[in-house]
Amino acid sequence: MPERRIGITATVPVEILFAAGCTPVDLNNLFINDPDPLGLVSAVEDQGFPQSYCAWIKGIYAVASRDRFGEILIVTQGDCSNTLALSELLAARGLIVYKFAYPYDRQPGQLVAEMAKLADSLGTDLNEATDWLARLASVREKLGELDNLTWQEYKVMGEENLKWLVASSDFQGNPESFERKLDEFLNEARERVPKKPGLRLALTGVPPILGDLYEVLATLDAGVVLNEMPRQFSMPDATGNLAETYLAYTYPYDIFHRLDNLEREVKRRKVDGILHYVQSFCYRQLGEMLMRERIDLPILTVEADRPGEVSDAMKTRLEAFIEMLKMGKSSFDNG
Ligand code: SF4
Repeated sequence: MPERRIGITATVPVEILFAAGCTPVDLNNLFINDPDPLGLVSAVEDQGFPQSYCAWIKGIYAVASRDRFGEILIVTQGDCSNTLALSELLAARGLIVYKFAYPYDRQPGQLVAEMAKLADSLGTDLNEATDWLARLASVREKLGELDNLTWQEYKVMGEENLKWLVASSDFQGNPESFERKLDEFLNEARERVPKKPGLRLALTGVPPILGDLYEVLATLDAGVVLNEMPRQFSMPDATGNLAETYLAYTYPYDIFHRLDNLEREVKRRKVDGILHYVQSFCYRQLGEMLMRERIDLPILTVEADRPGEVSDAMKTRLEAFIEMLKMGKSSFDNG
């Protein structure tokens, strides 16, 4: 039987896709790992996408059209304010579009109903999807170990942590081979000499579109010990129940549940400061006001529009922020 690839625009209950015999492909990952993501953005702007539109949406549209995905699963609630318009555009281009809506108020019954509807439209059911939840438990546990090796043992760098956790939205289409590669990586990482950074940062918000952000931070002796959203994509609080697992996922619901989780994690990981990554033209930027009110740590906003490198102006701001954190830390350490 030919492979049935389904493009996904955000993290979804991927167990349902595996149960239906589909291969999920996270279009965000496909876009950002392309050799020329900026070229993809420019190409769709030439086709009529407005400049003042999120580059991730442009990238998703670009790879979905270029790679001829016949079917696409779009999260229409709980991900992005632009996805309904995107779904119309892709439907008009001939793609079969499935929709999935996370209930804003985390209502369990509604989430189960949405999952059942998706399962039914793909030709499976929630019992089969729950079997897949059990099959994915060991790989998710290993991703948890990778995360611990980042913030407890300093053997996994923040950028490596990001790479693995982000990839868990679709397990690169093949959980078995993903797990084998992860085993190899963990075997090597466990043997490393710890590299403790001078400062412990959390990177909150959507995954950054900037290729060298972690490199720049490393030159300033600052390490990312929490990648907030990528960690969420790996379902760190998964249980044996599908609905419980996706209700614990903090990204798609109200921000208060997310901030509870963030507050807990930054305390547990003894984070010194937060870099809040925001994407230009993204509605989620507004949430930063509440993050600042709630989290008692210095926060620097890092905003970018297009794929590329950290600008000189941003480097200067990062240096100043990190210097300020280091000074605060040393005066605290000195009593
Ligand atoms: S960064 Fe914001 S606007 Fe862009 S796709 Fe993500 S949620 Fe949507």
